[in-house]
Amino acid sequence: MQSTTEMPARSLGTLPALRGSVIRPEDAGYDRARAVFYGGIDKRPAAIVRVADVADVQRVVAMARDGDHELAVRSGGHSIAGHGTTNGGVVLDLRDMAKVEIDAVACTAWVETGATALQVTKAAAEHGLVVGFGDSGSVGVGGITLGGGIGFLVRKHGLTIDSLLAAEVVTADGRHLHTDAERYPELFWAIRGGGGNFGVVTRLKFRLHELKQFTGGVLVLPATPETIAGFSAAALSAPEELTTIGNIMPAPPLPFLPADVHGRLVIFGMIAYAGDPDSAGRAIAPFRALATPIADTVAAMPYAGMYPPEDPNVHPSAIGRTMFVDSIDGPAAKTIFEYLSSSDAAMRVAQLRPLGGAAARVPADATAYAHRSRPMLVNVAAFYEGPEDRRVRAVWVDEFAKAVQPDDTGAYVGFLSDEGESRKRAAYPGATWNRLTRIKAEYDPTNLFRLNQNIPPAHSRVT
Ligand SMILES: Cc1cc2nc3c(=O)[nH]c(=O)nc-3n(C[C@H](O)[C@H](O)[C@H](O)COP(=O)(O)OP(=O)(O)OC[C@H]3O[C@@H](n4cnc5c(N)ncnc54)[C@H](O)[C@@H]3O)c2cc1C
Repeated sequence: MQSTTEMPARSLGTLPALRGSVIRPEDAGYDRARAVFYGGIDKRPAAIVRVADVADVQRVVAMARDGDHELAVRSGGHSIAGHGTTNGGVVLDLRDMAKVEIDAVACTAWVETGATALQVTKAAAEHGLVVGFGDSGSVGVGGITLGGGIGFLVRKHGLTIDSLLAAEVVTADGRHLHTDAERYPELFWAIRGGGGNFGVVTRLKFRLHELKQFTGGVLVLPATPETIAGFSAAALSAPEELTTIGNIMPAPPLPFLPADVHGRLVIFGMIAYAGDPDSAGRAIAPFRALATPIADTVAAMPYAGMYPPEDPNVHPSAIGRTMFVDSIDGPAAKTIFEYLSSSDAAMRVAQLRPLGGAAARVPADATAYAHRSRPMLVNVAAFYEGPEDRRVRAVWVDEFAKAVQPDDTGAYVGFLSDEGESRKRAAYPGATWNRLTRIKAEYDPTNLFRLNQNIPPAHSRVT
C-alpha cells in the first residue's frame, strides 16, 4: 500500500544451482514477476527465485542467510504491507509449488503453499469437501493460513488454522521440519497465526469438512444507519452455518446493479450458508427484511462460486485499518454512514465481519491468534491515487477507524499494513507476544525472516 523509492538492485553474486527459475532485473517478465497484489508497492528485488521444490527453498534460504541478503517470502503476493517483495534483496516465490493432494477417505489435504485459495477450494470440492480461507480466491494459501485465515466459513468451521493438522517448514538453519501437535509443538503453535516469522512453510496439511449443500451470493441493500445496524445485529445473531461479510461502500458499476445505483452507498453483503437450502432461506430472511434488496443473487450454488474470476492485471492502491468491535449499534452505524458519505475516494469501504461460532470455541492460547472472544472484525479502507492522495486518504482512514473503535484493543495480523510496533502488539497481546518471541529465538535467532509483521527473537527484544 505504501510507495517505495526505487533503489538499485544489489548484486547477489552467483546463485546456487536450482531446479526452479530465476528472474533478474534484465530479464523479460521482471516487471510482471515483481508485481504484488497491491499497487503503490514498487520494489525492485535483485532476483525473484521461483522455487520448484524443498531443496530449492533450502538453497535460497542458505544463500540469503550466508550472504546477508534481505529475503522476501511470497506465496500469493497479497500482503497488505507489501512484505512479499524487497528492494535489492531476493524474493523466494512459491507459486510453482502449488500441488494439492486430497485424501478423500481421511478427509485431509496436503497443500503446497504456493497454491491459491481457489485452487484448493476447487480440488476439495471434487470430493464434496471444503476448508475455509478468506474472501479472495487468489490469496496464497501460505500467507493466509500463517496469519490465521478469516473467511466465509469462519463461524461454521473456525479460522483456517483451526483446520490445520500439520506443516512442513524450512527453518533458518536449513532444516526441513515436519511439525504438528506432537512434533515441534511450539513451532506448530507459532505458525498458526504468527505469520512467516519462523521459516518457509512448504506444505500444509488441512482437515477437510463435508459440504454437501451450500447457499451463497450477494445481497445488496441500500445503506442507511438503520440497515447497517440491522445487518450487524442479524449477522451476529445468525446461526453459525451463516457467515456474512457486509461491505458498506459505493455501489460498483456491476452489470447486475441498476445504473442509477452506481456510486450510491450500499451494503454489498456477501452471504455464505453452509447447509441445506431451506435452513439457508430461514437464516437469510432477516437480512432480506431489512430493506427492499437492490440485488439478490443468493441461491444454492457451488462454494467455489464465492470466488468470482479476478483480473490479475488489476493492482488497486488502498490504505486501510483493521480492528475488533463488539457490535455495530445505532450510533456506530451512523458514524460509518457519515464517514463514508463525507469521502470522495473512488472506492471506500467499511467491512463488517461477524466472528463467533466455531472460531470462538477455540481457547485463546491454543494458537497465536488470541482474539477468540472478539465478536466482530471491522476493516475500513479507501483507494488512493498517488502519494499526495494517499496522505489525504490516510488521515481519513485514521479518523474513521478511531471513530468506530476509539480503543486500540486488538488487530488481526492478516489485515495489518505497516502500522508500527503498537499495532503489531495489538495483534499479539500479552502472553502471546512473549511466547512468540521465545519461539522465534529458537527457530530464527538472527531474524532472517524479518520481512513480515516482525516478531523479534526474545534475546534482542526491545520493549
Ligand atoms: C484482496 C485481499 C483480500 C483479503 N481477504 C482476506 C480474508 O478474507 N481473510 C483473511 O484472513 N485475510 C485476507 N486477506 C489478507 C491476507 O490473508 C494476507 O495479506 C496474507 O498474508 C496474504 O497471503 P499471500 O500468500 O497471498 O501473500 P504474500 O504477500 O505472498 O505473503 C504474505 C506474507 O506471508 C508470509 N508468507 C507467505 N507465504 C509463506 C510461506 N509459504 N512460508 C513462510 N511465510 C510465508 C511472508 O511473511 C509474506 O510476506 C486479504 C488480502 C487481500 C489483498
